Amino acid sequence: MGKTIVLFDVDGTLSEPRKKSKQDMREFLQELRKRVTVGIVGGSDLKKIKEQLGDDAETAYDYLFSENGLVAHKAGQLLATQSLKKHLGEDKLKAFINFTLKEIAEVEIPVKRGTFIEFRNGMLNVSPVGRNCSQEERDAFEKYDAEHGIRKDLVEKLKTKFADFGLTFSVGGQISFDVFPNGWDKTFCLQFVEKDFDEIHFFGDKTYKGGNDYEIFESPKTIGHTTTGPEDTMKQCRELFLS
Ligand SMILES: [Mg+2]
Repeated sequence: MGKTIVLFDVDGTLSEPRKKSKQDMREFLQELRKRVTVGIVGGSDLKKIKEQLGDDAETAYDYLFSENGLVAHKAGQLLATQSLKKHLGEDKLKAFINFTLKEIAEVEIPVKRGTFIEFRNGMLNVSPVGRNCSQEERDAFEKYDAEHGIRKDLVEKLKTKFADFGLTFSVGGQISFDVFPNGWDKTFCLQFVEKDFDEIHFFGDKTYKGGNDYEIFESPKTIGHTTTGPEDTMKQCRELFLS
């Protein structure tokens, strides 16, 4: 076997979604590390990933990429960090936020609450109804949006207005959409490993188009594997790397 790294998504791949990984999985990954290099690539931040994979997550795996690699650790050492603020700069960021708030102010929907833009390290989350609406208001907005295309229209306007900013818009969930720079999906982490390995395997559960594993699964730089859950991940890895 040449120099091989195996990268794993977290939710639905190493653990049940939003849950902690089980002891048998943690032990299995240590077995696997005797044969290949093991890396983790999750969309959540480091704190959340450590809650799921254990407090020793930075050192228990050869590479740990949180926020898809915006925060990159190798053997417990911080390799690099990236952020939306650093990438876009304050002027572009402000122009985008100002315009988006103006558009939200003018959109006609049954109710509006608060927190229309949530600023995160690697993305903006934009919600026309506002993130601090109640569950009932959330359900009502989702229904209204399906009929009137509120999010779709707003995304189109922003795409046109900021065509030169190099942004990806991802509509998901009930009330919002995410905005982040092109390429800040899980393929972002590949820059830290592509020069050092002959084969890069990737395991993920949402490898279909529109899923958060799609880009890295489809990347010509990786050998992609779809898993149905932690048990299946272990089974496939045993067959591929331990037999
Ligand atoms: Mg997943």
